[in-house]
Amino acid sequence: MTKQHSELVFLGLGANLNAPLEQIRKATNALSEHAEINLVASSSLYGSKPMGPQDQPDYVNSVVAIETNLSALALLDITQKIELDFGRVRKENRWGPRTLDIDIILFKDQKIDNERLTVPHYGMKTREFVLYPLHEVAPELCLPCGTELTELLKTIDKNSLTILATS
Ligand code: ATP
Ligand code: CA
Ligand code: CA
Repeated sequence: MTKQHSELVFLGLGANLNAPLEQIRKATNALSEHAEINLVASSSLYGSKPMGPQDQPDYVNSVVAIETNLSALALLDITQKIELDFGRVRKENRWGPRTLDIDIILFKDQKIDNERLTVPHYGMKTREFVLYPLHEVAPELCLPCGTELTELLKTIDKNSLTILATS
């Protein structure tokens, strides 16, 4: 990828209901078709075991890199609308099954902390289903905290992460 990482936004996609591979592919398409979003790269589609409650199907995850002039909150509005368009039902229980989850992993080189948005995403540094696909689209990425992604990955087990398909 030739773009400066500091100009890019990285989104983490996840799904484990209603043909999740297709959900992720269609969601990637929906993002790329948005007038204010330019899709730069998308990772393979990975299979992973659920976090939290185990009585739910395995997940499909990917990471996409986009360019946008939108603010982070305006992008969150769009990704949350896409989640709802894809039939997501918000439930009380955290990390329950869902047709589509889109997290803002990194927003350019910005650090954001308000009641709707924490960027970098608070869980990104420990989640193999975020870090390995992120490495696929941005192998030389340096996180806003100064950590090299390749260094971080040395400490993160793949657990049951597998590549299911190309994007
Ligand atoms: P997790 O955040 O641990 O991955 P989740 O994705 O299941 O869990 P959600 O129910 O999708 O959590 O999101 C809860 C709230 O998190 C959202 O309403 C949103 O306002 C907030 N949020 C904070 N930071 C982010 C971020 N970086 N990306 C997406 N949502 C975020
Ligand atoms: Ca999430
Ligand atoms: Ca989310």
